Amino acid sequence: MIRRSILAAFAAFFLAAPAQAQTSPRDQRVIFVMLDGLRWQEVFRGADTDLAASTEYMRSSFAKDVRAGFVDVSNRREALMPFLTGVVARDGALIGNRDAGSCAHVTNDRWFSYPGYNETLTGKPDARVNSNDYGPNPNVTFLEWLNRQPGYASEVAAATSWDAFTRIINAERSGVPVNAGLMPLRGSDGAVTTYNRLLADTPVPWKSVRLDAFTHMAAMHTLRTQRPRVMFISYDETDDFAHDGDYAQYLMAAHRTDGFLRELWETVQRDRAYAGRTTLLITVDHGRGDQPGESWRHHYSGPALAAGTSPLREKFPNGIPGSDQTWIGALGPRVRAGETLAAQAGDCAGSNQMAATTLTALGLDWRAFDATAGAPLGIFK
Ligand SMILES: [Zn+2]
Repeated sequence: MIRRSILAAFAAFFLAAPAQAQTSPRDQRVIFVMLDGLRWQEVFRGADTDLAASTEYMRSSFAKDVRAGFVDVSNRREALMPFLTGVVARDGALIGNRDAGSCAHVTNDRWFSYPGYNETLTGKPDARVNSNDYGPNPNVTFLEWLNRQPGYASEVAAATSWDAFTRIINAERSGVPVNAGLMPLRGSDGAVTTYNRLLADTPVPWKSVRLDAFTHMAAMHTLRTQRPRVMFISYDETDDFAHDGDYAQYLMAAHRTDGFLRELWETVQRDRAYAGRTTLLITVDHGRGDQPGESWRHHYSGPALAAGTSPLREKFPNGIPGSDQTWIGALGPRVRAGETLAAQAGDCAGSNQMAATTLTALGLDWRAFDATAGAPLGIFK
């Protein structure tokens, strides 16, 4: 497809000059990626045939191609996210397939973005964080904590589609560089100038959010030029296309993001500073509804709706059932291979465990960060 080849060319441009191999100590590194509001249902089952049969949700001009690529195929799961369900599920851990008895969820009682990101990055929910417009985060994320540890100063960076991450990571206090929303990249070389020009001239479909291709390019650029030990990336399109009720675009966004994950992974495997010592962690900030059918578009708990002025409150006074349900992927030298269904036997993996899981992947004592945070997931060798 044309879009893909442009993206590939752009990626090649950014990667044209491979960085010098570094002779840093054999430190562990992490790339932590979040996909906003992508349901476990699509991750583990592939495209939903009922939603894909809806003329309302498949109104996009791409609908025919999307059906051919992701719906009318022999294996819908492999077709949609081949890297996540192929490579990560085979060589790492992929938690949250409720059809197979695995489980993941957020432990906050809001089931929307800021509370989910706060929980994931700080290791516990905070009832004060009750709005996506909430101000600078009073809580310390593991990114901020790391940025203050010996050996990690200036070794943490973030690239995010949603501009709220300057507040969520508290960029001002934490000192973590957060390239978010419509922020340009710093620099004056040709690739950066082209990127900044495109970012400024491309229509912005949703307030406060840039398209994920920009975020991915910004992340790749940061990895190549700043070479952080810990890189946080947050993609957004899956959530906003879902709120728009555009299932075809939602599926395409999920598929594109899977390609981004593959490119991140394959790029670091070719880089001596990262290869063999990098853990890729992937999760979401919340789930979405499943039944009734239209609830796939939404995600909120009853208390969250009760506190707001959303027109959804009339239809779903008790919230959107199931939108606390999430999934988690992990791939890296210390992660046990194989779909980790048994690792959480009897338990449901929580987003509150991701901070400790990340610090464990880095070989650090998570209790030094916050002994009251959720414990690490049982995914390590
Ligand atoms: Zn949302």
